[in-house]
Amino acid sequence: MHSQDLQALDRAHHLHPFTDFKALGEEGSRIVTHAEGVYIHDSEGNRILDGMAGLWCVNLGYGRQELVEAATAQLRELPYYNNFFKTTHPPAVKLAEKLCQLAPAHVNHVFFTGSGSEANDTVLRMVRRYWALKGKPEKQWIISRENAYHGSTVAGMSLGGMAPMHAQGGPLVPEISHVRQPYWFGEGRDQSPEAFGRTCAEAIEARILELGEDNVAAFIAEPVQGAGGAIMPPASYWPAVKEVLAKYDILLVVDEVICGFGRLGEWFGSLHYDLEPDLMPIAKGLSSGYLPIGGVLVGDRVAETLIEEGGEFFHGFTYSGHPVCAAVALKNLEIMQAEGVVEGVRDDLGPYLAERWASLAEHPLVGEARSLGLMGALELVADKASGGRFDKRLAVGNLCRDICFASGLVMRSVGDTMIIAPPLTITREQIDELVALARDALDETAVRLAKTVQE
Ligand code: PMP
Repeated sequence: MHSQDLQALDRAHHLHPFTDFKALGEEGSRIVTHAEGVYIHDSEGNRILDGMAGLWCVNLGYGRQELVEAATAQLRELPYYNNFFKTTHPPAVKLAEKLCQLAPAHVNHVFFTGSGSEANDTVLRMVRRYWALKGKPEKQWIISRENAYHGSTVAGMSLGGMAPMHAQGGPLVPEISHVRQPYWFGEGRDQSPEAFGRTCAEAIEARILELGEDNVAAFIAEPVQGAGGAIMPPASYWPAVKEVLAKYDILLVVDEVICGFGRLGEWFGSLHYDLEPDLMPIAKGLSSGYLPIGGVLVGDRVAETLIEEGGEFFHGFTYSGHPVCAAVALKNLEIMQAEGVVEGVRDDLGPYLAERWASLAEHPLVGEARSLGLMGALELVADKASGGRFDKRLAVGNLCRDICFASGLVMRSVGDTMIIAPPLTITREQIDELVALARDALDETAVRLAKTVQE
């Protein structure tokens, strides 16, 4: 079928996620047909370096035949069975064991879901169940952060702090409260990063006291905010947050959907920041995105209560621990271990990207270039000296993103923050290519902006 025919059918019948349907209908979709390694190919014959690993998920890169074979073998053996009603199957059990080996030492159980959003719905249910079992049902409030992303189901988007989602989706799940995010470049430059990190932790404590410490059940956060703009908190933030949470009896939920499975150079972001979460929602890189699977890693404190004092937990999904998805996830983790992918990010590729990415800070449009592991961000600014932003109506981030795409690089924009999170199998040469494409796109963005201003 020709691209135009596919585009016409797409326009006629397909409502895309997170999309302005009318605007897309006018423009038409780009049709991605196949991919290998770190490159995707479209129906127009373009090869594009996927600087976003799909949606932060294709950690092992495209075209891994071992994953195809793991799926095929499992499809033949047992394509589906559930984990309800006292049954299970080998892939779910083996994957659970593997995950608990990789997780921090106090984490020894997992609850499977089909996605990251379902994982966060599970978090909400589990947190409230835990406190009810502990005889503290008044502990209902969950503190989250503005601009956090925890999914698109009703619970996921209520836990998240995305204002445009809240504006469309209400009424939200009640008793979720959002505090400021540790986004130094965007919101904290009147203080040093260190002082700002502490200010943000103090905001959590202030909110706990406002809500009443006996009413607060949990604090949820991503180690590094991903969809919010690849926001690495100042070094002072997590230690100060840990101190606050330890002072009051509050569970820590660390959303590892993006940061898990090597993105920051450790198996989990929690290991990078030395956190001991009670619950860790996971998805995405768990299967390198080859099949949909997520889950919640459950620390001993919560697991023991659920198991010892629980009775039936009325929660689960048809595809919780789907055998084919679990078999692919297990193979994915085995390959990552065998190839030392996580160590490669920590010791080689992460530091290499950091050095190359930092060179973009010299560009006149860039106010800050930051990276950690294989996640990076560029802050586009109108005034390099002051870090002053562009008029929002210019949509400079989107302009730069479209220029990137047209010239062979997927780099995403969040407002005027450009972000990358390439497959963890990217090579040094491909990092050079990514940075060169990004630099060219910045140059072209500057040229187009100059023209806009002249007009
Ligand atoms: N949590 C985080 C931190 C995420 O980035 C995402 C997805 N971008 C989700 C949860 C939701 O995952 P899913 O899209 O698989 O439902």
